[in-house]
Amino acid sequence: MCRTCGVQFAQSHAPPPRCPICEDERQYVGWNGQQWTTLDDLVAEGRRNTIEELEPGLLQIATRPPVAIGQRALIAQTPAGNVMWDCVSLVDEESIQALRARGGLSAIAISHPHFYASMATWSAASDDCRSTSTLPTRSGCSTSARACACGRLKPRRSCQALR
Ligand SMILES: [Zn+2]
Repeated sequence: MCRTCGVQFAQSHAPPPRCPICEDERQYVGWNGQQWTTLDDLVAEGRRNTIEELEPGLLQIATRPPVAIGQRALIAQTPAGNVMWDCVSLVDEESIQALRARGGLSAIAISHPHFYASMATWSAASDDCRSTSTLPTRSGCSTSARACACGRLKPRRSCQALR
């Protein structure tokens, strides 16, 4: 995943050549160039997710110390299932178990490309629940993707951010 924006890319033997999120004119590539990390590295750095009840029926997941731009995810707990609104990059077994104890995830909705984070891995860890973006990308397509068991994104439609 990109260390600057926290967006996860499909598994590969070599890092991707570039991050289209960071190369967008609204973001930036750091002075030291494109940097990549992995879920294992984030855990090895001592990062953990915290799950906090903001109010009845509304949870927040945040990573401490923060990753990328300090994304947080909200979990709306509804009778029809739990919906993750936006996403965080760190996915670990402890967080997955904590969410399962609260009913797991039925869907993931992303409001902005900076919150794509690790939606594919969160989806795969949640019985491949649907992940969708609520906003069109610059190319005009919406990013609707599912994660398969191997953790790779399977875009339903062509989208630069998911290639
Ligand atoms: Zn990036």
